[in-house]
Amino acid sequence: MIKYTSTWLLLALFILPGTALFGQVSADKYCSDYLNSIRDNRALLTAFFQQMPKGGDLHNHFSGSIYAESYFDYALKSDFWVNLKTLELFDKAPTLNLNSDIKKMSEVNAAGGLPDLRYQLLRFWSIKDYFLGDEASDKHFFDAFDKFDLASKGLAREGLLELKQRAKAENVQYIELMYRSAKHGLDLSDLKIYSGILDSLQRQKNSAGLAIVLDTLYARFIRKGIESKVLDYTQTIEKTHRELQLDDSTFTMRFQGYVTRVLEDQVTLYGNLVASFLSAERSSLIVGVNIVAPEDNPASMRNYWLHMEFFKWCKKRFPSVKFSMHAGELTLGLVKPEELNWHINAAVRDAGAHRIGHGVDLAYENKVYDLLKLMQTQQVAVEINLTSNEYILKVKDDQHPITLYRSAKVPIVISTDDAGILRSNLTEQFVLLANRYKNISYAEIKQYILNSIKFSFIKEEKLKLKLTHNLQQQLAKFEQQLQLSLIKR
Ligand SMILES: [Zn+2]
Repeated sequence: MIKYTSTWLLLALFILPGTALFGQVSADKYCSDYLNSIRDNRALLTAFFQQMPKGGDLHNHFSGSIYAESYFDYALKSDFWVNLKTLELFDKAPTLNLNSDIKKMSEVNAAGGLPDLRYQLLRFWSIKDYFLGDEASDKHFFDAFDKFDLASKGLAREGLLELKQRAKAENVQYIELMYRSAKHGLDLSDLKIYSGILDSLQRQKNSAGLAIVLDTLYARFIRKGIESKVLDYTQTIEKTHRELQLDDSTFTMRFQGYVTRVLEDQVTLYGNLVASFLSAERSSLIVGVNIVAPEDNPASMRNYWLHMEFFKWCKKRFPSVKFSMHAGELTLGLVKPEELNWHINAAVRDAGAHRIGHGVDLAYENKVYDLLKLMQTQQVAVEINLTSNEYILKVKDDQHPITLYRSAKVPIVISTDDAGILRSNLTEQFVLLANRYKNISYAEIKQYILNSIKFSFIKEEKLKLKLTHNLQQQLAKFEQQLQLSLIKR
């Protein structure tokens, strides 16, 4: 620390301000030099990136981004029932409640047990005070979604405002949120036979045959009225967006639909995917589609090829709809080595993804340099989620493939994934980036920030231009203010 302080003082007193005073150093160069002088100090990095306009967060999930405190407040306000042993929530008394462990939250409060219950629930719903060895970190993470599901449903509207306010407070101008996707909403019981057909075509890797079956299923969905279900959904989303005034002069929010890859029934999954693509085709607020949930889940692994074919089909049918795919959120030890070498390849080459989420198993991919070249030439951006990868996959520092993507000039964006469960924010992601990867220059970090608008799926060209222009201006202002503030000290 002494060494750091003396180095900084030398820079602050003599080099940076002096040259700046005589107009020798642009604000941009000043910030770049300053950033390089604080790379080892996370508090200084936090102050720097907290103030810096960070553009957009393109990879974040609604329920995983809400903080557990909000879920607790909602559960308390609603006076939910809670099982004090398992911490399971109920919105009404379980029938035949003979279990003395299940109490109303008001009862717990009256007995003085609320602070302890609150602490337990915050840990149950997030990684707060998680200790290695409590349970597998990926299990703790992914299980949290079901555990707080009831409270999350209750915060479907207010939660959006929480995310907006938090984003604005840390100088984030845009969020592209995976939020309560469209579902097919149809009775598909007469289509059960197609589950076996899809399975069989997958085993044969029969792409041409599969496309014909998907055409048939799509026609059946249309006849059953999927478009009116989607219309109801898009109207609800647009109403919510309008009523909550999610867009304002300094902030914009757009949504991505998604399907859950762990679903066992592939006809249902395909129906939901078609609903998501239809909604994204028809609403300017729903700008893309994704595929989510643990990639190493047995159903996700077994059906990965099939899911790529579903997206490939949708890309042909809905050419205007963009999509990002969680792909390669895997690492050695999590799955068999031969499963590590094709998921990103398939998402880019077969499905035709416009962006890749995570892409962590990159180094294991077949013909990795060809894949990187393809991502670079086709401008397929990768969404980097450092805290998420560290916690769920135990991949960080030089194990993380960010340097591979960077050296191949693949477009990079920095995102949070699930800031609520991970108890993080976008500022921390940039702190980790600058601290861990010291070769990544200030100019590159600025480019990643600009990429977050450039590679967003925003449909309205005018809006995209405006956000880009505003972000450039805000970055210039940030640099000038930082230079002035530091010179004054
Ligand atoms: Zn994610």
